[in-house]
Amino acid sequence: METNEQSVHEILLRLPALLLPWYDQNKRDLPWRKNTDPYRVWVSEIMLQQTRVEAAKDHYIRFLKELPTVQALAECPEEKLFKLWEGLGYYSRAKNLQKAAKIAAEQGFPRTADQLKKLPGIGDYTAGAIASIAFEQPSPAVDGNVIRVLSRLLGDARDQETLKSAFARLLAPVYPHERCGDFTQSLMELGATVCVPSSPLCLACPLLSVCKTKSDALPTKKIKAERRKTDVTLLLFQNQSGAALCKRTEGVLKGMYGFFMIERAMTDENVRTFLQSAGMKQFSVGAPHAHKHVFSHIEWNMRAFPVYSEENAAHLCPATDVREYRSDFSSLEYFPKEKIERELSLPSAFRWCLKLL
Ligand code: SF4
Repeated sequence: METNEQSVHEILLRLPALLLPWYDQNKRDLPWRKNTDPYRVWVSEIMLQQTRVEAAKDHYIRFLKELPTVQALAECPEEKLFKLWEGLGYYSRAKNLQKAAKIAAEQGFPRTADQLKKLPGIGDYTAGAIASIAFEQPSPAVDGNVIRVLSRLLGDARDQETLKSAFARLLAPVYPHERCGDFTQSLMELGATVCVPSSPLCLACPLLSVCKTKSDALPTKKIKAERRKTDVTLLLFQNQSGAALCKRTEGVLKGMYGFFMIERAMTDENVRTFLQSAGMKQFSVGAPHAHKHVFSHIEWNMRAFPVYSEENAAHLCPATDVREYRSDFSSLEYFPKEKIERELSLPSAFRWCLKLL
């Protein structure tokens, strides 16, 4: 071991003794901490990848009540799963969760990080979290919180991607012989409650005496890629029986319900001309409503037009001069509004349109 790495190792070796007593005194009472069943740990970690702790609590309780075991998740109909996932975004994570549940229900839950990583949707971080919390393995789980704590503790200004793998390698040998799961959680908890992104609470920190930074000067900020901005027009076809939805076949939210979508800005006049050229004869177009929906990498500037007609929009033919279709007329299906609200999972990118039905 080189001298610098040796001194880093010495600092990290002190972490269990500094963090575990602090964790015992200060850990938050969270629903996924009731026990260390691997299924519960896994569901909570996937939910927490995209949602704040406070917002995830209710989702987690509801999800576990409906699907209390890995077997129940494996057998859950997709529409019910999406409904339970509603509000958590990234439906691909719910799909992967179920794919992995089917494997785990058949073959048993893997116990090591390397085996866990073979399941769909489980990367280094989640595998480390499950292996250490549920199976007491010395497997680090390095997420943004842990990178923040350790980069400040060690005064390490390298970029976050480099730090992620470096910290996983450096942490593994300093895991305590007992309480591996608590050690993992103590690091996460410190990052979430004390060593927060700005204005960390250094005076309340159990690592103050060994920390090289004692401020929010680190980690080095990631340069964020600019979000792509896209104009989107939604047509909310409505008749006596309800409103028309279709399953998205491409792009973000693929496989999810949405309204008929055209990827360009349209005026009332454009919409009328478009519908006529697609073969609709009797219809009225309501006042449009605007909304902005921000994904991690795209921003949709949306305008939704209610379209009232007793003609079935699924029978319309696309006009040949419009290339920005993001939906097929033929896949439209009408549902009563109550069914859309209560039974179907409509992503939040479209959910705001319900008030226009
Ligand atoms: S002393 Fe401050 S900067 Fe250092 S680990 Fe603790 S909270 Fe973070």
